[in-house]
Amino acid sequence: FDDRDGLIWHDGKLVDWRDAKVHVLTHALHYASAVFEGERVYAGNVFKLREHSQRLIDSAKELGFEIPMTVEEIDAATIETVKANNIVDGYVRPIAWRGSEQMGVSAQQTKTHVAIATWPWPSYFSPEARLRGIRLAISDWRRPDPRTAPVKSKAAGLYMICTMSKHKAENEGYDDALLLDWRGQVAEATGANIFFLMNGDLHTPTPDCFLDGITRRTVIELAKKRGLKVVERKIMPEEMADATECFLTGTAAEVTPVREIGPYSFTPGDVCKALVEDYDALVGRTHDKAASARHSAA
Ligand code: PMP
Repeated sequence: FDDRDGLIWHDGKLVDWRDAKVHVLTHALHYASAVFEGERVYAGNVFKLREHSQRLIDSAKELGFEIPMTVEEIDAATIETVKANNIVDGYVRPIAWRGSEQMGVSAQQTKTHVAIATWPWPSYFSPEARLRGIRLAISDWRRPDPRTAPVKSKAAGLYMICTMSKHKAENEGYDDALLLDWRGQVAEATGANIFFLMNGDLHTPTPDCFLDGITRRTVIELAKKRGLKVVERKIMPEEMADATECFLTGTAAEVTPVREIGPYSFTPGDVCKALVEDYDALVGRTHDKAASARHSAA
């Protein structure tokens, strides 16, 4: 992904994509002192930009370092990067990390560096394709206790278990993995939150040891506008047997219906369909039919 054309915002200026590099003794590489965001550009606009920029600042604070930028400055740098790369429908990856100024667990003298990359990412899936639903394996890894890790931070280090869980699931033919938390309760997928339709109401785990996703909150509002009751509570894995529909939410996942989680199966139906459509309408999605056709042919 490092050898391509484009411009990356790096510590205050736009540099050539291939020159946006760090030293091998970067603290973040050795000790995971990095936080990041994942954002989506729809029709040239970054969806929920302010919320993402604020979460980047808050994530760094959780890890004990400060981003040397205001939320307004992060917003402006993001917009500048999106414009410089002519992104219409795309993804944005801001990242902040402790640099190579000092080596060792103690990193009081390191500087905080910031980079923002963006690349085109059109939507390939038509609502019909999405409604087929994806399949999740249940991971052996568990989301840690809030006393064990900074679970409210979108911290790079927390993605170690996500990558391992996702690889195992993919190697077994699944699309993604569901992680339980340290208590054995349903938590989230490797990069998305989860919802279930049970007896006509939406149920979603209380986000007390994983991200309360920006998409999660958006979809809760959309569901309420549809007149659905949304219940945030502790959900045990056996309860998935009572769910008729299930979907994931996330910046990248958007609203992604799920048809299987380990031994449990669901049928994406009216609620999945309504929320996929409402989310598409909210972000201002226009479907690129040619791209959908290319993707389904691949
Ligand atoms: N959980 C994890 C582990 C994630 O990586 C993401 C994606 N950022 C989410 C949940 C959903 O968060 P959001 O809706 O803010 O993208």
